[in-house]
Amino acid sequence: MKVLLDMNLAELTSLIESMGQPKFRAKQVYDMILSGKDAHDKCNLPKSLLNVLEANFIFQPVVIEHTHTAKDKTTKYIFRLHDGNLIEGVLMKYKYGNTLCVSTQVGCKMNCAFCASGLNGWVRNLSSGEILGQYVAVNKAIGGSKSNRLIDKIVLMGTGEPLDNFDNVVEFLRNITSDEGFNLGVRNISLSTCGIPDKIRALADIGLNITLSLSLHAPDDETRKKIMPIAKKYKIVDLFDALDYYERVTSRRIILEYILIKDINSSVKDAEKLAKLIKGHSYHVNLIRLNEVPERGLKTIDSATEHAFYEKLSNLGVSVTIRRTTGDDVSGACGQLRNYYMKNEEDK
Ligand code: SAH
Repeated sequence: MKVLLDMNLAELTSLIESMGQPKFRAKQVYDMILSGKDAHDKCNLPKSLLNVLEANFIFQPVVIEHTHTAKDKTTKYIFRLHDGNLIEGVLMKYKYGNTLCVSTQVGCKMNCAFCASGLNGWVRNLSSGEILGQYVAVNKAIGGSKSNRLIDKIVLMGTGEPLDNFDNVVEFLRNITSDEGFNLGVRNISLSTCGIPDKIRALADIGLNITLSLSLHAPDDETRKKIMPIAKKYKIVDLFDALDYYERVTSRRIILEYILIKDINSSVKDAEKLAKLIKGHSYHVNLIRLNEVPERGLKTIDSATEHAFYEKLSNLGVSVTIRRTTGDDVSGACGQLRNYYMKNEEDK
């Protein structure tokens, strides 16, 4: 069955008109599905239309299966998709508003050595409506609707590699930023990638100008290859070429994410190498303490190591911050809660 949320308003309008219904009904249906409603919820649509739609389409492709809130109010969601697959999302509450982290694939092909997302392999891409559906489901769960949006920011940093699902991700971005959609500003959307140069350029050319983060995690190709299999395919220098292109075209400053992992990439010497590597570029570095994934065996660093790394970069003139970790007690790292949840389901 087709998913209504995969359509934009123009496509939905063609559908509604082809069913012999007046055009204005399309907007009503669109507002209804963006509010998280299904055919049985109260609305001002004729029952006959709802019945036909319900027989042929899925209204809500993403359903909240499980919710877990940490002490700091970060909430992890396990979503069930209409085909039974599970994905996860995280809602973070900051002083300036709510940010939702969404998944773009079921599982991940990249298999990074520190990440839980690839542990069970890759299953499939999410459709644009399934990415949007995560926003719709959480917005509704916290009391919002289409006209009352309670999530201000979106980060594409959940399970999956967004640029490995390029077309659906772009369609999602177009829909969520559109006037008839949630009208979310591009400055409130961030996409994090392991780094696929031609897709970074393609994203620049689309003209959406969202914030782009690169998961760098190493000061040289050799180290990167040890922890990120994708580094065997693309050199850092080629990634930086693509990032500089993105900056030129979009005028948005690139963020480099750097997870600090014990004995791998977190010495003061590594910090020196990193500063040298990015000299001449205007990237901002965001340091992240490794959230240990037991199956992966890598160890996190202590505060002194983190501080020394930060100080070194800062003293060498690098623009750098330490990312505040949220929701540790709800398995905050990528893919961790989904794996935990799937294991427990198997044990049932
Ligand atoms: N595939 C994309 C987006 C998903 S990962 C990417 O590679 O960027 C989102 C961010 O979480 C990335 O920076 C990723 O490296 C980081 N991450 C993954 N596992 C982590 C862990 N165990 N601890 C801390 N950060 C992690």
